[in-house]
Amino acid sequence: MDYRYRIFKAFLKFRGLKCTPERRRILDAVFSLEGHFDVEELYGLLREKRSGISRATIYRTIPLLIESGMIREALRCRKNVRYEHIFGHKHHDHMVCVGCGKVIEFKDDKIEELQDRMCRLYGFTPIEHRLGIRGYCKKCSGLAKRSVSRGKRAVNT
Ligand SMILES: [Zn+2]
Ligand SMILES: [Zn+2]
Ligand SMILES: [Zn+2]
Repeated sequence: MDYRYRIFKAFLKFRGLKCTPERRRILDAVFSLEGHFDVEELYGLLREKRSGISRATIYRTIPLLIESGMIREALRCRKNVRYEHIFGHKHHDHMVCVGCGKVIEFKDDKIEELQDRMCRLYGFTPIEHRLGIRGYCKKCSGLAKRSVSRGKRAVNT
């Protein structure tokens, strides 16, 4: 029995819930996916394995995986919510392109330190943070600039 499963099981027990075979299978599937994933991808993977797990079961299990510290919501783009592992993964933050959906992962020690300093200043004990920067990637920013200047011209006339 791997330690992820042990922690998840302990969390479920604490919440008075059982670690059903469905929950176990969803947990295994989540950790077999690398990087960011959404419910559809998870559902697709479980369907391939002929697990018989419904979307509704996945939607009900996701909050449990989040609360137990297994995964977190990584990004939201055009109503699509994507998740990623926290457990056993290095912390990072995201830049999301609203043009093409490209995701850049980054981590900067100075930014991390600053956030800790702000927490200390407010007597706040941080558990988790999510820094997301929305905007345009290199490729899309050229297009965005062009449409902005076109917009300005339209206003002026
Ligand atoms: Zn960070
Ligand atoms: Zn882009
Ligand atoms: Zn990420």
